[in-house]
Parts: sequence; C-alpha cells; structure tokens
Amino acid sequence: SSIRYTPATICAIATATGRGGVGVIRVSGRDLLPFAAALSGGKTITPRYALYTDFLAADGSAIDNGLLLYFPAPHSFTGEDVLELQGHGGPVVMRMLLSRCVELGARLAEPGEFSRRAFLNDKMDLAQAESVADLIDAASESAAKGALKSLKGAFSDEVHALVDGLITLRMLVEATLDFPEEDIDFLKAADATGKLEQLRQRLEKVRATARQGAILREGMHVVLVGQPNVGKSSLLNALAGDDVAIVTDIAGTTRDTVREEILLDGVPMHIIDTAGLRETEDVVELIGIERTWQAVERADLALVLVDSQEGVDEGLERILARLPTGLPLVFVFNKIDLTDGQPEQDTHNGHPSVYLSAKTQAGVDLLKARLLQMVGFSAGAEGVYLARARHMDAIGRAAEHLTLAATGWQQIEIFAEELRLAQNALSEITGEFSSDDLLGVIFSRFCIGK
Ligand code: GDP
Ligand code: ZN
Repeated sequence: SSIRYTPATICAIATATGRGGVGVIRVSGRDLLPFAAALSGGKTITPRYALYTDFLAADGSAIDNGLLLYFPAPHSFTGEDVLELQGHGGPVVMRMLLSRCVELGARLAEPGEFSRRAFLNDKMDLAQAESVADLIDAASESAAKGALKSLKGAFSDEVHALVDGLITLRMLVEATLDFPEEDIDFLKAADATGKLEQLRQRLEKVRATARQGAILREGMHVVLVGQPNVGKSSLLNALAGDDVAIVTDIAGTTRDTVREEILLDGVPMHIIDTAGLRETEDVVELIGIERTWQAVERADLALVLVDSQEGVDEGLERILARLPTGLPLVFVFNKIDLTDGQPEQDTHNGHPSVYLSAKTQAGVDLLKARLLQMVGFSAGAEGVYLARARHMDAIGRAAEHLTLAATGWQQIEIFAEELRLAQNALSEITGEFSSDDLLGVIFSRFCIGK
C-alpha cells in the first residue's frame, strides 16, 4: 500500500516505565540499517535475528548492551523498518539510549503513533489498533483475552463478513432500481428479505458478543436500593474484596454517598445508592438528585437489599415503585448469619434473589456470579470482543437501519438507502469510513510507544 504521511523516523520506550529487568526501545521509519549500524558499531545485522551487541554513544563508548532486532519493511508491526533495542531497562539507561536514537535522527513518537502507522500501512484495521491500547489497559485476565482476540482480528473479521453480506444484498437491490416494473417481483424471487433477515440475525449475534466486551470496558450500572442499616456499605465492601478501595463521588448531595465504583472480577460496577436520594428543599442537592435519577434511567439492574430479619417493608416498596419499569431486579436477603439461613439462590416475586451474609461473606460469590450473568457477562468466556462504546454505537445504528430496510423494503429506494447507511455504520468500526479527525482522537488516547 502507499505511504500516506511523511515517514519521519520515530522512537519511544515501548515498555512500562520503572518496571522489569528489560527495557525495549522501538524505532520505526525508512531505511533503518544505517541507524542500526551506527548503534551497534557496524555489526552485521540479519533481519529478525537477535543480535547481542553494545549500544554505542556518538563517541564510541557503550551506553548499554543487549539485543538488537531488525524487522525490515513491510513485515513489521508498523509496516516500516522497525528496530527493537532490548536493554537493561533502568530508567536512566533507557533515557540515554532514547537520546542516542534522537541524535541519530529519530524524533520522539506521539502517543499511539506506532499503531497509527500500522493502521495507515494496512497492517491492522482500526478495531485491531484500538485493541492494542485495550490490551495495555486491561484490568483483568478476561479483558486481556478479549483485547487479544480483537487484536487478532476476530471482531473485525466478523464485521467484515457482515459488510460483505450487505454489499452483496445492495448489489441485488441497486440492480433492480434500473428495472422499476419488475423490482418487487425480482426481489421476492431473489429472497432479498430472507437474506436481510439472515444479516440482521448475524448482526444481533455480533452485538451480543460485543456487548460483553463493552461491559468489560465500560462496566455495569447498578442501582442500590435498601433501607438504612440493611448492610449496603458492608455488601459493597464484600463485593469489592480486600484489595480494591471503594471510590466515592459525592455528586451534589451533602452527607450521603450517591455513587460508588467497585471492580467485580475485573468488571467495573458503577453503583448509585438511592439511600442518598431523600426528600430535600436544598436546591443544589435537588439538582444532584435529579441527575442521579436520570442515571437510574440508564441502569442495567437494581440490587435490592433486604435485612433477612425484617423482610420487604413499605418504605422499600415505595422506592421500588420509583424505579424505571422493566429494570431487572435482584433481591439480596442479607444477614443470614443472624437467622441461621443458608447461602442460596432463589426467587422473590419472580425476581432472582440471593441469601447471603455481607459480614461472613457466605453467599457473596453466588451474588457475584448472578450479577455478572445478569449483565450478560460470563467470566472467562471465549469469544468476547473488547468492544468500545464507539463500536456498540455503530452496531446499534447499523441494526436500526436494517430494521428500517426490513419494514420499508417494498419502496426500493428506501431499501437501498437504508442498506447503504447500515454498511457505512459498520465500516466505521474497522475504519474504512473514518475521517482523519476521528483517527486523531482515537490514536491520541494511546500511550507513547504503542
Ligand atoms: P447500610 O446503612 O445499608 O450501608 O448498612 P451497613 O453496611 O453500614 O451495615 C449496618 C450494620 O449492619 C453494621 O453494623 C454492619 O456491621 C451490620 N451488618 C451488615 N451486614 C451484616 C451481616 O451480613 N450480618 C451481620 N450480623 N451484620 C451485618
Ligand atoms: Zn452505608
């Protein structure tokens, strides 16, 4: 493919700072053999073979020694000539080595610039490039697995397959536009609606899988409901485990915590505690409460906490009545250690329920599993794509256009146009239709060296 930018040589430390025994500097650009020769003192360099060498300063003294790897274009991460210098990793030495690279004509890479070049040189598509960033940021093993899978292109492959299917169907529909008398019959004979239906089902499958990835990334939104002293804070601590501090964010209200964030097996859980939503005359507090209720509208589920000794009372019923209709509920009967109850799953008024003790932690695992399952996430599930909100949004728009295509298919122009819009939406995921601005935004979020 053609090179669509000025290919300055760029360099960066590619390993995390201040960690590990080995530090890697990555250099990417054109014709890096002279660069490598200057660094190694003219040693013979074989592509893709590790060369053990001193890394030399301008005066010929050794800055460090380690391995030099040379990946000639186009068979490299960026598609350009790439050098990897593996040194001993101390921050001072790494910095000296980096300065040496700048001396040799490289400039420091911007965040995401290596991945951006890989994208521009068709080494990976946009969804893959983003998964590089996700892999680095992954908070859990499942998140990392999902990112890796996306990086290998599984997500992109699936999106491409859908786009191909759409193109085939569009060709069929657009062809009939030239023969207005026969169009409907022609489309019927070609089973256009059947083909559309298949594409819709396939898109829904992708959506479900991507949604799991989105949950990993964005987390689940939970409303916490319960009377004072039923054990809400205790339960959150039990769910978060020992090693994760609960972060609180007091939004507009005075005394009570309204929002909390915990990690549930690596899945972020954003919690809105309705205990903070009491009646008030305070204007500022009212604004905060109004915002919180808006957030409740977007929640994935409500966690209804009940003291096993007390049961569900009227006050709790009143709060439940204020929740959005159709919001999935999970009842938690807490303090079973005080009632000799057993940890178990059950149902309450047709909603799932869990009996547990936040104090002894008995049954907390049952609740964890239940919550992850209810938002559609199964830990360690194969086939998770680490989708982003951007991807989910594009998939959602594609699905809408396919629905419009299905209902309006007898007006061929509408049918054709909706298919085209669906294809465009999907193509945004892999970057075929992205503007440079969008690319800038996406890659600038990367860390330097990737
Ligand atoms: P919140 O007001 O709903 O947040 O309730 P807290 O988490 O502050 O708990 C209120 C009281 O109940 C505290 O004294 C807790 O130690 C106690 N508590 C919470 N969960 C349990 C439990 O499972 N068993 C017992 N025995 N006490 C609990
Ligand atoms: Zn509390």
